[in-house]
Amino acid sequence: MIINFEEIYLKGKNQKIFIKQLIRNLKRKLIDYQDYLSFSKSHGGSYFIEIIQEIPENVLQEIIYKVRNTPGITGFYVADTSGISMAEIIEAAVSHAEKQAPNYDSFAVISKRINKSVPFNSMEIGRQVGHAILKKLDKKVDLTRSDFKIYIKVRGKYTIIYSEIISGIGGLPVGTSGKAIAMLSGGIDSPVSTFMAMNRGLHITAAHFHSVPKTSPQSIEKVKMLVQKLTDYQGQIKLYLIPVLEIQEAIAQKTDSRLRLILLRRIMLKIGERLAAEEKAKALITGDSLGQVASQTLENMAATEDATDMLVLRPLVALDKKFIIEKAKNIGTYDISILPHDDACALFTPKSPETKAQLKYVREQCAKLDLEKLIEQALERMELQLISDRTPIENI
Ligand code: ATP
Ligand code: MG
Repeated sequence: MIINFEEIYLKGKNQKIFIKQLIRNLKRKLIDYQDYLSFSKSHGGSYFIEIIQEIPENVLQEIIYKVRNTPGITGFYVADTSGISMAEIIEAAVSHAEKQAPNYDSFAVISKRINKSVPFNSMEIGRQVGHAILKKLDKKVDLTRSDFKIYIKVRGKYTIIYSEIISGIGGLPVGTSGKAIAMLSGGIDSPVSTFMAMNRGLHITAAHFHSVPKTSPQSIEKVKMLVQKLTDYQGQIKLYLIPVLEIQEAIAQKTDSRLRLILLRRIMLKIGERLAAEEKAKALITGDSLGQVASQTLENMAATEDATDMLVLRPLVALDKKFIIEKAKNIGTYDISILPHDDACALFTPKSPETKAQLKYVREQCAKLDLEKLIEQALERMELQLISDRTPIENI
């Protein structure tokens, strides 16, 4: 199996660090398959994972799934290898073509000679391999519109033969941009923003605020399912579950009802800041998207963000809902997000929430709360779960 990473390859001086991190991430993700695999050194923009023993098709498919969902990988292929004599190349290419035979009618051979010292050129490889495949299998050669292309690359001491290039999700390896805390609700948006942050190299710890027992424990299960899905990309994610019912009650009792959501969000950010200190994270991530709901205005975002000195990143800020939904379907979180749940916030959403919060007034209202005590209480009752791509979903 050969893996390419174009963007990292372009990273110049940092390239080594990025590749090292990517390989560390890959090894961890593939730890359950290590009997089948041997990891080799990277050269050029490629990295090789050798398949060292007969591998059942379903296991190979699992490995392919893990590799294609690893941030930092632009594309890869599962290749056969052979020696560099014409006889060896022909034998391996015919056997490769034969394995795929039910899937195509016409084929083309695309060959390249990187090792120029072999006594034949790439045209000759194409001609001889094409001829051998024609003789063995009942297929047509079609150089322009074939439905099967077989690529042959003669390198230094070996030849690589492959047919399908599988695209990866690209981006940067998780961990190369540092750490961040992702504020994860059970909705559609925040799992997407969390994914996008991971895909830019951030190592994520998730924080979810809930109102159990006022809301059902199912809503927490749903968030765990979302995090489990996101471990397809990061491998292992810490999830903090923070009870906010008492905070909501204090807000409802003491402050202007129009500001309830903003005040709660401010406290969420403050708690996020405490978690960030614990996790050595340098940013908070939210799924806010400008204007998506009446309350996601610039004024409200500013009044919320005022609660923290930390960098707050909003990967979805300028994206249309349609695009976000498409992305959610793409990364596999959408079907989980649309499961019914009761939102911690929905319960205490006022009839007419503020859409243009005035900072001075928000601060005044916030000052009515015993913030330190409320935050301490919530942190004391907070739970931590470690969710991994190796934990079967039914066990969490
Ligand atoms: P989402 O689809 O992510 O729920 P939304 O469009 O419903 O987003 P809001 O509910 O206003 O928007 O929330 C804005 C952001 O605040 C969320 O994307 C998320 O990052 C954060 N947030 C909201 N509720 C919670 C919660 N209960 N726990 C953690 N973060 C939350
Ligand atoms: Mg929501």
